[in-house]
Amino acid sequence: MADVKHWDSEETLKQMKDAMAIDDEGMFTLMGRRIVVTPQKTFGLMMRSAADLGGINAAKIFMRQAGYEIAIDMAKIIKELLKIDGEELIVFYCETAGKRGWGFNVIEEIDVEKGFIRTNLYFSPFVTGFPEGLEVSACDFQAGAIEGMFNAVGKNKVHIVETKCVAKGDDVCRFENK
Ligand SMILES: [Zn+2]
Repeated sequence: MADVKHWDSEETLKQMKDAMAIDDEGMFTLMGRRIVVTPQKTFGLMMRSAADLGGINAAKIFMRQAGYEIAIDMAKIIKELLKIDGEELIVFYCETAGKRGWGFNVIEEIDVEKGFIRTNLYFSPFVTGFPEGLEVSACDFQAGAIEGMFNAVGKNKVHIVETKCVAKGDDVCRFENK
């Protein structure tokens, strides 16, 4: 297990609190955008429900597409508010996702020009829906999200695959280009 303690610090908590507010209609906002605060299990259960209804392969496609679309939208917000792009944007997304409950990405290698990334995700919320384990990976939302981030910085040919997944019994969830 990587040392991810530094993300769970008082400073991180303060940054999150400072970025959160309530708008004039009483809705939570983060960096000026409305957000939904939900238990981490929600996304595991969502993936699980999709798998129960349409089979695991349909669930994987559905969640990958959802992650992709959300990342495209998220990238717009990051570009607009923080004025960052390229590798900086992808690294920012990967590192701050954990603070918002999506699991902690530890990037091992990234080369945006070549369209390459290898990152390990700890505490993925998507594996929580499959406590009995799976034959295949479960974090397709995250794979789609990283792919969406690459698309948002102009690299639309990048295909991200989850090569290791805690749902399959691996020690970590790993995303990389194949
Ligand atoms: Zn996984």
